[in-house]
Amino acid sequence: MRTAVIGAGVVGALLARELCRYEGEVLLFERELDVGWGVTKANSAIVHAGFHERPGTASARFCVEGNALFPEVCGELAVPFQRIGAYVLALADGERAALEGLRARGEELGVPGLELVAGDEVRRRLPDVNPAVVAALWAPSVGITEPWALALAAVENACANGASLHVGEEVTGICLRAGRVRGVRTDRAAYDVDAVVNAAGLDADRVAALAGVPVPGLVPRRGEYLLLVDVPPSLRSAVLFPVPTPHSKGVLVVPTVDGGLLLGPTAADLAPEERDATETTTDGLAQALAGARRLVPGLPLGKVVKAFAGLRPEPRDGEFWLGETNVRGFYQAAGMRSPGLTAAPAIARWLAGGIAADLGLAPRASFRPLRPAPPRVAELPPEEWDALIARDPCYGRIVCRCNRVTEGEVVAAIRRGARTVDGVKFRTRAGFGRCQGGTCTDRILALLAREANAAPDEISLRGPGSALVVGRVR
Ligand SMILES: Cc1cc2nc3c(=O)[nH]c(=O)nc-3n(C[C@H](O)[C@H](O)[C@H](O)COP(=O)(O)OP(=O)(O)OC[C@H]3O[C@@H](n4cnc5c(N)ncnc54)[C@H](O)[C@@H]3O)c2cc1C
Repeated sequence: MRTAVIGAGVVGALLARELCRYEGEVLLFERELDVGWGVTKANSAIVHAGFHERPGTASARFCVEGNALFPEVCGELAVPFQRIGAYVLALADGERAALEGLRARGEELGVPGLELVAGDEVRRRLPDVNPAVVAALWAPSVGITEPWALALAAVENACANGASLHVGEEVTGICLRAGRVRGVRTDRAAYDVDAVVNAAGLDADRVAALAGVPVPGLVPRRGEYLLLVDVPPSLRSAVLFPVPTPHSKGVLVVPTVDGGLLLGPTAADLAPEERDATETTTDGLAQALAGARRLVPGLPLGKVVKAFAGLRPEPRDGEFWLGETNVRGFYQAAGMRSPGLTAAPAIARWLAGGIAADLGLAPRASFRPLRPAPPRVAELPPEEWDALIARDPCYGRIVCRCNRVTEGEVVAAIRRGARTVDGVKFRTRAGFGRCQGGTCTDRILALLAREANAAPDEISLRGPGSALVVGRVR
């Protein structure tokens, strides 16, 4: 039996891995040249607690279950996960009731450890927050992670367990016979399959249409961010939320797992066809800044290194599209609005179990859940780094100075599948630091060319249309 998963974002990646726990073949299709370059690449990276979600919804159930699975999944896959907790800040007396409501909702959902904290105590714990704070909801189960690293690691582990990854291959058709799935067609080939899972992110409505499955439609909802690096530890102790609006969780202040700080996201609904509109706007960034300063007035804005935007695939009916459909063998893991990252491990486990039951697949005794992580020099004690250099001198040559990434790590990333400069960046963090690739991009490009035995102008930033080298200067 063969299952095709369409889309190698965090949802499709974790699903492919969970499917490998059962007998049968798993094919993972991704139209981009690498894993995790869709919605998974640009979001707040928060592992939510669940108290923002409405009880009785799939988002609430899978958010709470997913949050609980994060330590296990990230532990097995050697992906960063830090349970740093979050505060929802009430900045006026009129906002206290909202905190009570969130706590009641969270407790109904089984969110652990929720606690209302008085204003004085919040100011003591968080010296940088707006002194107008009157109270806060403390949620210790909130965490932060690295979503693209999770997707990459899950795919690596799935492939180590027998899955096949087809990057740069777009699914263009789904073959049905007698009301059930029989195959998929791509821009390269046709494959016989017994089941298909739609995990296509912002294009999940189009993929559903290929199978003739009706869905309510998706609205791209843009979220704009500013990224700061080298911020003081006092600003990085917890995620800070405002009281949510009916439209979104609001603009946040979010520590990143590699020592940065995110301000955002905004929430602007775009036209359905604007699925690539990840440009930032003057208004959006001003809103992100104002919202973040409302929580922390004295943010060190000299530390801003980047502005970027992500698009949420907002389903028109407001809920994830999950599980079986009216076409036998066609399943959905789609409409993955926030908290889709948090929910992904739980959805993957639940859906893989359902597909295995439908197809009669037995558990695979040989499944190996652990993925050995490549060394990350910036996190090693000096003696371990020395030992690494003694084994391979490439680990002594620094490529990215801001994040201290070595040639050895870049080469390891290339051998693990990176074909582009962004592929190296998302695997190693080279280019993510203060200079944003200003000093390392050319060296990464040269290493990619050397390892592929290619000319530098054959190497791109992220695939066709993103050339970095256009010719000789002299
Ligand atoms: C601004 C913002 C903030 C967010 N913050 C959080 C947060 O803090 N916590 C949280 O839990 N969630 C958050 N989310 C939501 C979370 O990021 C998403 O739910 C999650 O990343 C969705 O992953 P995915 O795998 O479904 O989609 P994607 O990552 O988009 O993956 C889908 C993949 O399918 C591929 N694809 C599409 N069509 C085809 C085809 N025909 N053939 C082959 N491949 C195809 C695409 O190229 C893409 O790579 C946020 C989202 C945004 C945008």
